[in-house]
Amino acid sequence: MVVERINFLKDEINKHNYLYYVEDNPSIDDYTYDMMFAELKKLEEEHPLLKTPDSPTQRVGSVSEKFEQYRHKYRLYSLDNTYDDEELKKWYARVKKELPPNSHPALDCELKIDGLAMALTYENGIFVRGITRGDGITGEDITNNLKTVKTIPLRLFEDVSLEVRGEIYMPKSSFFKLNEENQLKGEKTFANPRNAASGSVRQLDSTITAKRDLAFFAYAVIFEDASNAPNNHYDALMYLKKLGFNINPNIRLCKDIEGAIKYCQEWETKRNDLDYATDGVVIKVNDFGYQGTLGYTARAPKWATAFKFPPEEVQTKLLEIENGVGKTGAITPVAILEPVFFAGSTVGRASLYNYEEIKRLDVRIGDTVVIKKAAEIIPKVVKVIDDGHHFERPVFTPPTVCPYCGGEIYTKDKEVNLYCANPNCREKAIAKLIFFVSSNGMDIDNVGENLIKMLYDARFVRSIPDFYRLTEDDLMKLDSIKEKSAQNIYNGIQASKHNPLNRLLTALSIRNVGKETAEILALEFGSIDNIMNATSTELSEVPNIGVIIADSVSEYFKNSKNREMIEELRELGVNMTQDISTRSDKLKGKTFVLTGTLSSMSREQAEEKIKQQGGKASSSISRKTSYLVVGENPGSKLEKAQKFGVIILTEDEFMSMLNDTK
Ligand code: NAD
Repeated sequence: MVVERINFLKDEINKHNYLYYVEDNPSIDDYTYDMMFAELKKLEEEHPLLKTPDSPTQRVGSVSEKFEQYRHKYRLYSLDNTYDDEELKKWYARVKKELPPNSHPALDCELKIDGLAMALTYENGIFVRGITRGDGITGEDITNNLKTVKTIPLRLFEDVSLEVRGEIYMPKSSFFKLNEENQLKGEKTFANPRNAASGSVRQLDSTITAKRDLAFFAYAVIFEDASNAPNNHYDALMYLKKLGFNINPNIRLCKDIEGAIKYCQEWETKRNDLDYATDGVVIKVNDFGYQGTLGYTARAPKWATAFKFPPEEVQTKLLEIENGVGKTGAITPVAILEPVFFAGSTVGRASLYNYEEIKRLDVRIGDTVVIKKAAEIIPKVVKVIDDGHHFERPVFTPPTVCPYCGGEIYTKDKEVNLYCANPNCREKAIAKLIFFVSSNGMDIDNVGENLIKMLYDARFVRSIPDFYRLTEDDLMKLDSIKEKSAQNIYNGIQASKHNPLNRLLTALSIRNVGKETAEILALEFGSIDNIMNATSTELSEVPNIGVIIADSVSEYFKNSKNREMIEELRELGVNMTQDISTRSDKLKGKTFVLTGTLSSMSREQAEEKIKQQGGKASSSISRKTSYLVVGENPGSKLEKAQKFGVIILTEDEFMSMLNDTK
């Protein structure tokens, strides 16, 4: 039971991390996400053996492949968070316990700006590099884009060398304007200012970034020469201001946690008057010496924590329930609301998840409903307010046929969703094609939703292989596509033919096969033929592939239409293999734990190499651990490993073990 719940939470959180960090397109609110995360953390604390290094509780964010990746000189962390005053008090008590007796650590309170973290490098006062946080170890190099942000100084008032950390954000007013303009142009709108900032600063064309109104607040600094550096955070911020950075004006140095809680309470309502989104307060131990003593966990500093503002609720009227059809044919209800303004934005739509949820809430069209919005993201309907007429309104009846094509509807075992059964449903087909080209799938540049709809309606693309049959002439037959963009679209599609197999596997929308599963399958089998020819049992024997996934994959490839499609793609020149030349079984049966920082690769890369050679990477030491690999600044694992008699490897010894060809 616990294992299943942990696996479920891990999968869900990983899926939402991807949507949030890479796609800038979250599908749930932060509160729901944070509650899942807190549950996973608690379960892992109660069952430490079930904590694995790939758990999202052990990681920070995610790094996309869109830009050149850059390994951070100094690691970036996330923040632990809570929605509860009592938890803040407990955190402060823990802080005091780890410091010398009678310490009274003062706390800096800062608004938690809802944007994205950046690491900016200055050499002798000149801005030389700007990297996103990414997974904290590696980020994306977006220097050129950051140069267009006016509040990032290109030259400081002193010729110093340092790394400045801060938040890139988009003012709320600019966010509303951008969404309005995009809506008119039929382009992508953003769920909140954070996603808009992330989408804007991570544009491949920096002239687009330059047109977006982005700003930067600095909130931390690392000195290359620490001899004259301030000894506390508050003074460091004042120094950053002197150098020419924008510092949030609402910082307060509090003498203890009571003062910090008061600050959080004050800003819970006052924040709505600001022209930038905030999702909480960051509380940091002021003294750098104390910070050093407290240190870090795997993903966050122990000397700081975030208080998140609780989700807000508001009432409005439910005007309509719209039914959408997704790539799997799932039909999902969306609440159309009388527009209501709260927490800084106008809300006209809210999620209703599925028809069971409508039944559970007994939502009826015309009802007054409560919608909840957490951290200023996609809201959801949480309850119905009986305005005296609720029971007079007809009970909502889910569709009995597909609302788009009139096709039959069916349900799947143990699932609450309704599905359209018509294989030729336009909506379903389009959703599938959109997913195929998306960054999660084949990542085809210049092909988006609008173009796909045009191609579909003009009968140029009705199936996945049709993308690869498209010619530049076909494209130019569409309204508004000129020669240059036809060429770009064509080139983007052709380039995707060389993608490794894991991308194709994800893009095919096989049930239960997401990005990570596709990677495991591609690496294990090396070619689509090997996967197609594997039995369900063989598939389920692969580590991390359960019976459900194995059955889905096997079912997918048993279907003759899918097999025909694969053959068509093959004939059209789409790659169907994965490079597995570095795979071996050399480390089979060996479990590795890593501690400290490795100089030649990130921890994730090291774990990947262990797995590629058949070994297991784990996050905690037990008697079953074969080796502990020790990098710089090792943690408490070293002591534990010595106690258990685990073999200790230096980085060099570990590297020669990996490279040993015997
Ligand atoms: P976080 O955003 O909760 O906290 C860390 C970040 O706070 C830092 O990286 C920095 O960018 C930011 N920050 C803002 N002001 C700051 C200040 N004054 N000082 C220091 N840092 C400041 O952590 P995260 O790891 O970036 O993201 C985790 C959070 O993101 C989750 O708690 C959740 O709320 C949200 N999330 C949501 C989804 C979703 O699907 N809705 C998915 C993934 C993450």
